[in-house]
Amino acid sequence: MTADRRFADMLHHRAERLGRGDSISPPLISATTYHLPGLENAQFTYGRAAMPTWAEVEEQLAILEGATVVGFPSGMAAIAAALFCSLQAWQEVILPADGYYTTRLLADRFLAPMGVKVRLLNTRDYDEADFTGASVVFLESPSNPGLDCCDIALAARKAHAVGAKLIVDNTTMTALLQRPLDLGADLVVAADTKAPAGHSDVLYGHVSGRDAGLMARVAEWRKLSGSVPGAFEAWLLHRGLETLEVRLSRMCSSAQTIAERLADHPRIRALRYPGLPSDPSHAIAKRQMSGFGFLMSFELESEERAEDFLTRCAYLTQTTSFGGTHSAGERRARWGDAVAPGFIRFSVGVEPVEPLWDAIEAALRD
Ligand SMILES: *Cc1c(COP(=O)(O)O)cnc(C)c1O
Repeated sequence: MTADRRFADMLHHRAERLGRGDSISPPLISATTYHLPGLENAQFTYGRAAMPTWAEVEEQLAILEGATVVGFPSGMAAIAAALFCSLQAWQEVILPADGYYTTRLLADRFLAPMGVKVRLLNTRDYDEADFTGASVVFLESPSNPGLDCCDIALAARKAHAVGAKLIVDNTTMTALLQRPLDLGADLVVAADTKAPAGHSDVLYGHVSGRDAGLMARVAEWRKLSGSVPGAFEAWLLHRGLETLEVRLSRMCSSAQTIAERLADHPRIRALRYPGLPSDPSHAIAKRQMSGFGFLMSFELESEERAEDFLTRCAYLTQTTSFGGTHSAGERRARWGDAVAPGFIRFSVGVEPVEPLWDAIEAALRD
């Protein structure tokens, strides 16, 4: 099914259940307890096990993913669930050395002390790497913040050949732009905090997968660990998802325009955007992504130059995180990412592209 068809289906996912006078948007139901004179056919029993408003969002995401979805209170909660559900003591997990740093910290502080062996690999080396010895291979493509890509289908084949599971963090793309489960991944994890919620006001995450046994374990992890989203957050994500396709299409097309112009700008070095034919990741990105995304990165000559640009650009918010309506930029070195001091990760928002470009261009002038 095409992404367009999936998105149209997602918008109308409640249609068949609507009775006359029902609200078109789902009701926000925050309840811990449910009327239970008996347990037969009770979909909702206690708020830690399931809530109606999560169920609405999981239904939306399940249509986009073409898979079972379990929602979590943040992207990290989803990542923790996926890792704790698929690893045991003395097994090995491969993680991206250049991916989202909190995933590495989680492994270092909590998985390693319980006997899990952690192997780090640069995203650009996944295609050549030998996965022998690993039980779980975890990847991010494009990686955050370096935007290197690796071949997801190849990683899935290599992981399965050595008996490992493949988990893909699909946050930078979303289910509309990249389909890791179709490429062979066992689980997808994503921070819906970013583009899916899209308005910089809610934390959410999800795990999706097509293996019923594994997904039952993920749901059990949520129930037993208590890592549950709030009803209001679910309701906000539901609302955000309704405009995801429209926002992404503006953000990706603006990103392409801006990247092409920055590529010719004398101040800009080491520009990375998978949509540029000259980008090292372009060939694989073209094969496995249905859009090139809204994230790019580049370097200015120094920390001072980069800070000056971020301060002077009228339409940039200086924020960490990405995927919101407002364009956002930050120097990743301030968080300790292994990048140059003048390295900026830039998330293109939904501002009309010409005023946004004018602001960028003005901030790059002396
Ligand atoms: C932001 C992010 C996460 C974590 O999401 P939270 O909702 O902040 O917990 C995980 N992976 C990637 C790639 C991210 O960018």
